[in-house]
Amino acid sequence: MMPHTADVVIIGGGVIGSSIAYALAVRRIPVLLLEKRGICSATSCSCEGFVFLQSKKPGVHLRMALESARRFKSLEDELETGIEYVNCGGMVAIESREEFEAMSVFAEQQLNIGLDVRLLDGQSARTIEPELSERIAGATYSPQDSQVNPMLLTYAFIDKARKLGAQVCTETAVTAIGVQNGAVESVITSRGVIQTRVVINAAGPFAPEIGRMAGLAIPITPRRGQLIVTEAAPPLLKSVILSAAYIAAKFNPDCARWAGEGISVEQTASGNLVIGSTREFVGYDTAVTAQGIKAVSRRIVSLIPRLAGLNIIRTFAGLRPYTPDGLPILGAVEGVEGFIMAAGHEGDGIALSPVTGDLIAQLVDKGRTDISLDDFGLERFNA
Ligand SMILES: Cc1cc2nc3c(=O)[nH]c(=O)nc-3n(C[C@H](O)[C@H](O)[C@H](O)COP(=O)(O)OP(=O)(O)OC[C@H]3O[C@@H](n4cnc5c(N)ncnc54)[C@H](O)[C@@H]3O)c2cc1C
Repeated sequence: MMPHTADVVIIGGGVIGSSIAYALAVRRIPVLLLEKRGICSATSCSCEGFVFLQSKKPGVHLRMALESARRFKSLEDELETGIEYVNCGGMVAIESREEFEAMSVFAEQQLNIGLDVRLLDGQSARTIEPELSERIAGATYSPQDSQVNPMLLTYAFIDKARKLGAQVCTETAVTAIGVQNGAVESVITSRGVIQTRVVINAAGPFAPEIGRMAGLAIPITPRRGQLIVTEAAPPLLKSVILSAAYIAAKFNPDCARWAGEGISVEQTASGNLVIGSTREFVGYDTAVTAQGIKAVSRRIVSLIPRLAGLNIIRTFAGLRPYTPDGLPILGAVEGVEGFIMAAGHEGDGIALSPVTGDLIAQLVDKGRTDISLDDFGLERFNA
């Protein structure tokens, strides 16, 4: 049964909406989550599971990720279920002298913020990851990087939220938002109207559509990533690995044109290798292309030659919710009282989900947050 009123409505049942539902339910705040399809049916089920700190911009981005990483350590106990969280360490493979210089500056800045990150030469990198190609010139390594199963994580958040009293309606699309005198008063859905004063936009790459319903322009663009899954293999990798070019492609939109230029690889608990990915602006098209998969395959084999012997069993693509400055959009929105943003996590939504849930729940509960959301406001794009 769909309720007719709710204290708080969350729109979107991906990892972000589910984490917020859990954090609100822990605080005993009545919450209703609306999802147009099923739980974990969009980007959060079309991604990898890096809880990677080294790819975060030194500054507020990394500070938030460090807090999220701290939260992950107790999450399995809190959620009372397995999420395949492993603090396996992470490596950024460096392929040229130019990259080595850029990464040493990047790592130095991260070290100053509190990340345990080390610069290694090629031989030391291969001591940790013997399968790395001989042509790898070096690496940065952090023992703080980790991995998790994104789908198990999302379901664990929502299941625990439900146990704590959260209401969840799937197959329920939000079609309009009622705003009266500059304040939210209702949410109109495919299954009826809900009176509410607080709406949280956690619709990931679809957040702009929800924004338009309240007269807001939200600069989030879908950025496609194509991924490969191989057959299960015996343990080949100890850590989760990115190439330094991945970090360049992540922060420099011009690099997005080079589909497949950056590479990432993780071995999952079941032994499959998940290899990604492209960074392409192609609207909401989630098709996999021969060009994209070829580019990803070529790059990974040049990084880890042994993977050439594995069969590909599946390919898929997801849409990262990209923002122009690489930071998510979080917090209350000026001009529409009761409208809260929690979207735009690009390639970091899995890693940042615990801290995002906590911060948004704090905002709803107390009107303030432990970590300032000043740098994350929608208003930064109007300056
Ligand atoms: C290839 C790839 C690799 C990635 N790898 C990583 C990684 O290793 N580590 C990491 O941290 N992040 C990674 N990410 C990023 C991460 O997947 C995303 O940031 C995260 O999943 C976004 O979650 P979300 O909840 O905001 O969005 P989604 O999971 O897309 O959820 C939004 C939900 O809103 C629903 N919705 C939309 N419109 C409506 C409506 N009108 N009414 C009701 N519901 C609606 C949708 O159906 C959807 O379920 C990767 C992403 C991609 C594409």
